[in-house]
Amino acid sequence: MAILDTPRPDPLPAPFLDALKDLLGEKGWTREPEALTAAATPWRGAFAPGHTPLVARPASTAEAAALVKLCARHGVAITPQGGNTGLVDGGTPHGEITVSMTRMQAVRDLDRFNNSLIIEAGTPLVTAQEAAREADRLFPLSLGSEGSATIGGLISTNAGGVAVLRYGMMRDLLLGLEVVLPSGDVWDGLSGLRKNNTGYDLKHLFAGAEGTLGLITAATLKLFPAVQRASAWITCESAGDVVALLARIRETAGDTVTSFEMIPENAVRMVREDMANLRDPLPSSSPWRVLCEISMGNENHARETLENALGDALEDGLASDAVIAENLGQAGDFWAIRESIPLSKKAFGMSVNHDVSVPVSKIPDFLEAAARDVAAIAPQAEIVAFGHVGDGNLHYSACDPADPEQSALKPKAGDITAAVHARAMSFGGSISAEHGVGRLKRDELAGIRPPAATEAMGAIKQALDPLGIMNPGRVVNV
Ligand SMILES: Cc1cc2nc3c(=O)[nH]c(=O)nc-3n(C[C@H](O)[C@H](O)[C@H](O)COP(=O)(O)OP(=O)(O)OC[C@H]3O[C@@H](n4cnc5c(N)ncnc54)[C@H](O)[C@@H]3O)c2cc1C
Repeated sequence: MAILDTPRPDPLPAPFLDALKDLLGEKGWTREPEALTAAATPWRGAFAPGHTPLVARPASTAEAAALVKLCARHGVAITPQGGNTGLVDGGTPHGEITVSMTRMQAVRDLDRFNNSLIIEAGTPLVTAQEAAREADRLFPLSLGSEGSATIGGLISTNAGGVAVLRYGMMRDLLLGLEVVLPSGDVWDGLSGLRKNNTGYDLKHLFAGAEGTLGLITAATLKLFPAVQRASAWITCESAGDVVALLARIRETAGDTVTSFEMIPENAVRMVREDMANLRDPLPSSSPWRVLCEISMGNENHARETLENALGDALEDGLASDAVIAENLGQAGDFWAIRESIPLSKKAFGMSVNHDVSVPVSKIPDFLEAAARDVAAIAPQAEIVAFGHVGDGNLHYSACDPADPEQSALKPKAGDITAAVHARAMSFGGSISAEHGVGRLKRDELAGIRPPAATEAMGAIKQALDPLGIMNPGRVVNV
């Protein structure tokens, strides 16, 4: 592979390497080619691979702090890495040493009465969910990469997922943080307080900073009462009906609506073709499906509320058909279809992907206008638009059933992206709803953000990281 074959002069000074080896011990670092390649390879070829001269694996906050201090002393740049599932080229190193957080996975404290969990940054999301469940509590963040994505990565990308409608994004689930600053100093802000008006709320600086302001070593997360779920698979005849259906169900079920995922018919078809074991819960020619979940303390109440809400919607004609999962296994089957879309889309062939958001009410108009724009550039493109419609967030792809290298869409990808992004912006939307900025969207966003915002971000970066060693070139170009 190119990463291994290209000879590169060692960019790491010998005194730095000697000190690092003493500091971290044998388990704390590697220069094995396989490990370097793995660290520099993004999730399933989401973008081009990078390269890294060394992977460091601190096992404690003290080790992480000493490591960053050492890097600052020698001017060695760092890319913090968790599960390496990010989709915007933020956690893949491009010459920096990789600081992998995967040895920091301790649950430090769980306080059932304060409803808070202190957990280390390298812990996979599923472990946090399980820890909460064992204490009869809920940590609500949930997304397709939850087996690999880590708490530190999720905070750093301010991840969203399928329960944002009710519980908010990662930033909303954060009570406190412990961070190694670019100087190597540690900020211990792990307080589990819900009220603490003592000046700038520093934790929010690091949420969404994508590792550019410091290395997160631990976090205090909000927990919620455990809930029981009721899930429905619904068919709708238009995007307008989907949006009206959400409003209708919320009128009946209020804040108990946890997820409301919009899935087009062609996405279900792609999943079915790719994964023979998954079946469409309600085969029909309707153009849209909705996966709706309601959660309440009592399972029967949740089911009853969902049944009532759906009854009204079917009567009004906002839904054409619906089925409620009989048990957790069936609900899991619904989610398996939803969560398989990204991989099945990849198996289908070429796709030009976007992570946009618009006000929920504008979704139907956006879909219509963007489809027209894309057709004008690439008439053969098949549009697959799915996502968290309750948050106005669509994963919008132009697809072609061809080898990505040969596809006629390939030379048009830049124009398609420009058109989709321009259309989202024209509806008052965002071109990065939940995946972040990384290197992929840095320059485009610099041209879109108000100049005062870019200037303020640059000033914060300079103030905290004057040497520019923390994940340089991501988010802001300083
Ligand atoms: C199949 C799939 C489904 C997904 N679904 C969703 C979804 O529904 N919603 C959503 O929001 N996202 C989704 N994502 C993307 C999501 O952003 C990432 O999965 C996750 O947030 C990144 O976590 P990670 O541990 O893999 O971080 P990485 O990819 O390793 O890193 C991401 C960024 O965080 C930084 N970082 C990592 N750890 C630290 C740390 N300890 N301190 C400081 N900086 C750090 C990195 O430098 C990088 O900039 C999905 C991804 C995949 C592959």
